[in-house]
Amino acid sequence: MAKTKVQTNQLLDLRGVGKQVAKHLARLEIYSPQDLLFHLPARYQDRTRVLRMHSLTPGEEAVIEGVITDVSTPSRGRTKKLYEIKDETGKVYLRFFHVVKFQEALLQSGNLLRCYGTVRLGSKGLEMFHPECKVMTPENPLPIEPHLTPIYPATEGLTQYSLRKITDSALAFMRQANVLQELIPATLLQTLAFPTLKEAVQFVHRPPCETAVEALQENKTLEQQRLVFEELLAYRLSLLKTKQTFRQQPGVALTRQQTLSTAFLSQLPFHLTSAQLRVSQEIQADLSRSQPMLRLVQGDVGSGKTVVAALAMLQTVESGYQAALMAPTELLAEQHHRTFKRWLLPLGIQVEFLTGSVKAAARKKSLQAIADGNAKIVIGTHALFQEAVQFSKLALIVVDEQHRFGVEQRALFREKGMQQGCHPHQLVMTATPIPRTLAMSVYADLDSSVIDELPPGRTPIKTIVMADDKRQDVIARIREACKEGKQVYWVCPLIEESELLNCQAASKTVEQLQMLLPNLKIGLIHGRLRATEKEEVMRAFQRNEIHLLVATTVIEVGVDVPNASVMIIENAERLGLSQLHQLRGRVGRGSVASFCVLLYQQPLSRLAKERLSLMRETTDGFKIAQRDLELRGPGEVLGTRQTGDLSFYVADLMRDNALLADVNHAADTISKQHPECIEPLIARWLGRTKEYSKV
Ligand code: ADP
Ligand code: MG
Repeated sequence: MAKTKVQTNQLLDLRGVGKQVAKHLARLEIYSPQDLLFHLPARYQDRTRVLRMHSLTPGEEAVIEGVITDVSTPSRGRTKKLYEIKDETGKVYLRFFHVVKFQEALLQSGNLLRCYGTVRLGSKGLEMFHPECKVMTPENPLPIEPHLTPIYPATEGLTQYSLRKITDSALAFMRQANVLQELIPATLLQTLAFPTLKEAVQFVHRPPCETAVEALQENKTLEQQRLVFEELLAYRLSLLKTKQTFRQQPGVALTRQQTLSTAFLSQLPFHLTSAQLRVSQEIQADLSRSQPMLRLVQGDVGSGKTVVAALAMLQTVESGYQAALMAPTELLAEQHHRTFKRWLLPLGIQVEFLTGSVKAAARKKSLQAIADGNAKIVIGTHALFQEAVQFSKLALIVVDEQHRFGVEQRALFREKGMQQGCHPHQLVMTATPIPRTLAMSVYADLDSSVIDELPPGRTPIKTIVMADDKRQDVIARIREACKEGKQVYWVCPLIEESELLNCQAASKTVEQLQMLLPNLKIGLIHGRLRATEKEEVMRAFQRNEIHLLVATTVIEVGVDVPNASVMIIENAERLGLSQLHQLRGRVGRGSVASFCVLLYQQPLSRLAKERLSLMRETTDGFKIAQRDLELRGPGEVLGTRQTGDLSFYVADLMRDNALLADVNHAADTISKQHPECIEPLIARWLGRTKEYSKV
């Protein structure tokens, strides 16, 4: 939600808002009547019905009415006063630890009270602890609340009571003033059967008494969904605008000579799959245009995205420019470095490497080669764009395993990569299949290609789910597999709070396994090793000098050792499906049959059981992602970094998933028929700070 940050006089004009109140409101980032109208209740109470005492259940919040029949002051404990009140159906005690004078005067035996509070089971029966109480007479009953009572996010100095008064004034102001302009065209609202913005805002502040409280708390009422819809719409429009703005920037048209790529392909020991070919051609066409490319390549683990990236990079080099590939971890950057050196040195192309842990002397050499343009291909981590790295002629940035980088970082790479007013092309690769509607929503600023085919000759991975107490069987399997020359991963997921404890746990696992498997060479890799140490271990594993590699989840992304065909994952019930899928993708890369054992701790919840059996049933990344989205929310599917950026005000991608198709459709309609609505919508919901095109 965009805030003005400047207090408007209109706010002070509202009844009940003086200088002092305005100061408190500023702490809630409320500077105008509009901000106040968008200061939405956190929850609701139902005070619209007086409940009979016999129908009360402990735990519920309720309004009751009754006559005080007894007042006592227990001699023991902290209770100052205990009042017994009765209606025709039963009795309830009101327990107070302290009572102020004027209250005490009201709470006299024989008085009729209306109380609001949470019902609980006390020592003498049902009771309310420090309820709100009002005295009334049978002839003059207090009016019943006409709507559900909103509870607002508050701050010191502002009670719920004053917040309700002030929002009352703001709602009155809204009804007569020209605020909260309707930005969704009437025809669209009609087709979607949504109320107007003002109706929706009025409703969420003062829901009529017949509204289902549950639906309200879950943001599921039509009026709330209307607000959610508008926010998601604004978000999508902003991404589309980013895309459009970016497309209008000048880029570098790269020629398609294909001399290098032909030479490269002919030295590969395999042919491209038709999916790899198709996606490569899409990229090739993009690169040859003078608008910068912004393309997402989705391809399941092992679908061969690296070769596709290499082809794009070769087209860049061929045209006399530099290409950079950025990986999310040092380990993965190192692996890519090795692969690219192996592929490209024979073609006479210099490959440089740059990460945070490259030592001063080597770094200086790298920076020099990057600056004078001798380094045609540069592989690294985000260090490539954080530091004073000067490229000579950068025309392509490849971002591998995109889900680790957020929307804002993506925009940052674009800006940093700017060269003499030209934007480099950007190729974003992800192994996490993203369900289509979700992808359209979060990646609306990218074009997208899918590598929907695995290279031939792979035997499917067999997945076995096992309780941890069957470890002995697993050890036996490992012994068997290693005898046949296979290699094994043993993954210990993060279960401790601290990285240090996790690494210690992993070291312990190594000790235990070594005792049980004395003839095997066992290695260990975790996040606290230095980059060079990690590389050493990975190299040894790749050269088959290590049979069994114990690892924390650092190996999750992209690591490629085709001879490793067995994977054991401990505490598998703690991991998300997408993450399990990523991990499992480390095996099944060669032609031998692979298997993956998911070890779990007893007892297993029903949901956990269901998740693990899904892993056993399918290796289809899209299916798994869809299920993960349903079960654990977009955070799992997109990575936390990604969703961390997606802090919506009223929307929740998981909960409101069903709206996305309509949102996407509405965004198209508005772009075509009502372009004047775009800017105000973005300004209302995202403000200036969140416009990704300007990061
Ligand atoms: P990912 O898409 O997960 O990044 P990689 O690019 O690491 O996958 O490729 C996985 C493995 O498959 C690598 O060993 C790679 O050399 C190999 N590979 C890629 N394309 C093909 C192909 N068309 N045929 C056979 N093997 C391939
Ligand atoms: Mg990869």
